[in-house]
Amino acid sequence: MENIRYSRNIPIYRDVDIVVAGAGPAGIGAAVCAARAGAKTLIFDQSGCVGGMATIGLVGPFMTCYDAQGKKQIIKGVFEELVERMAEKGGAIHPDDVGPECSYSGWYKIGHNHVGPFDHECFKKEATAMLKEAGADILLHTSFVDVLKEEDSITGVVIHNKAGLSLIRARQIIDCTGDGDVAMAAGEDFLLGNGKGEMQSATLFFRVCNVDSQKLDAHIKAHRDEIRPFYGPFSWLIRDKKEEWGIPRGEVCLFEGPVKGEYRMNVSRLLHLNGTNPEELTRGEIEGMEQTAHIFSFLKKYAPGFENAVFMGNAATLGLRETRHIKGKYRLTGEDVLAGRVREDSIAVLGTSIDMHNEKDEGGSYYVLEDKPYYGVPYACLVPEKTKNLLVAGRSISADETAFSSIRMIPCCIAFGQAAGTAAAMALRQGKSPADINPEELRQKLKEQNVYLGE
Ligand SMILES: Cc1cc2nc3c(=O)[nH]c(=O)nc-3n(C[C@H](O)[C@H](O)[C@H](O)COP(=O)(O)OP(=O)(O)OC[C@H]3O[C@@H](n4cnc5c(N)ncnc54)[C@H](O)[C@@H]3O)c2cc1C
Repeated sequence: MENIRYSRNIPIYRDVDIVVAGAGPAGIGAAVCAARAGAKTLIFDQSGCVGGMATIGLVGPFMTCYDAQGKKQIIKGVFEELVERMAEKGGAIHPDDVGPECSYSGWYKIGHNHVGPFDHECFKKEATAMLKEAGADILLHTSFVDVLKEEDSITGVVIHNKAGLSLIRARQIIDCTGDGDVAMAAGEDFLLGNGKGEMQSATLFFRVCNVDSQKLDAHIKAHRDEIRPFYGPFSWLIRDKKEEWGIPRGEVCLFEGPVKGEYRMNVSRLLHLNGTNPEELTRGEIEGMEQTAHIFSFLKKYAPGFENAVFMGNAATLGLRETRHIKGKYRLTGEDVLAGRVREDSIAVLGTSIDMHNEKDEGGSYYVLEDKPYYGVPYACLVPEKTKNLLVAGRSISADETAFSSIRMIPCCIAFGQAAGTAAAMALRQGKSPADINPEELRQKLKEQNVYLGE
């Protein structure tokens, strides 16, 4: 591509203590905690609402917040507050009340105990209310463009919206874009997917209603013994009709929401897609839309319970499982996860399975922690190597491709946001870089916020 030099004066939109880029699950956790700690906080997002994949992506349910054996809830804090608020309004079922092998858990047994079905609108509304109550300023329809830097620190972020380009001056920056956009602009190193440029397949979710849940349940339970991850509901039907229909995923991954007969459908599959390339993203959105129409016709024709189902629409945006993983002070590995390692500086403990979707075909791999209840996510995974006043939270934290496949779930990302927001506010108060705060002091603060950090 040919390059040109572009320069202009832009207005300073705001001067804040902490700016959070991206208002998905991680951004919400980060901004709520930064603002509660008394920091002047602004959170912005390129879309028209907060929630990221949990709202515009139609993703759900909340993958488990329990330990690997399904015995104890281990992700609490802001996640628990949000779930309780939503459950009170009828917009979520608390994970305590949801078991495996049912419509809410997609009928899976392994790794799907205590998931949390929820309504996207309720998520949006309650998360927005929590941000406002905490005192965070919200700015929507605003994209991150670039950083201004002085030596190793960011002095402000350039944003773009309908008012044009402007600058938010900030003392601490938390990158919650999911793609590590801020970290990349700041010059941080990262892995793109598995480091060879291969990323897990993407999915455009869609939503259906008016499904006969009883009929569907009876059919799937009759095949109960065949079900395991990547060979789930209707894998028998997909195999049978492979030549004629060519369904892109080897199973129909479907989850009932809090309203009976309403399901979110995780079935489309966009292969060889680099989610940091706008042309490939465009191809993915279009192909995804074509796939979901095809899948829905297939289900209407063959799937018991779908005879009168109604297509309620595609997600507003493609679901990208994986893009950039920043290079932090520590990189979490698959080995750490499977060994149930809990480092001293852990800011969250997780029991979520390793759920890896292939880049090139309909399948994937799925591993559960067998004899350990959880593993720890070190604070150092949120701290990038070079920039002094930047933290990264959400799915782009420093992890290898295997560990990433576990840490990427919504409750986990809210927990990382909570740690990053709390850490940034501590750093600000102490006049330090987030890399230099005492992790034990951070852990104490998190425990005071009802975060469980293990025995
Ligand atoms: C297909 C699929 C299925 C999944 N299934 C489940 C599931 O069943 N259960 C579960 O718990 N998790 C699931 N996940 C994982 C989960 O949804 C994500 O990993 C999680 O939402 C990541 O949170 P985040 O805050 O890091 O990023 P996101 O949710 O991606 O949020 C990032 C936010 O940043 C904004 N943003 C991005 N770039 C910019 C920019 N340059 N400027 C301004 N704003 C920006 C976006 O608009 C978005 O709001 C799934 C994910 C996918 C893709």
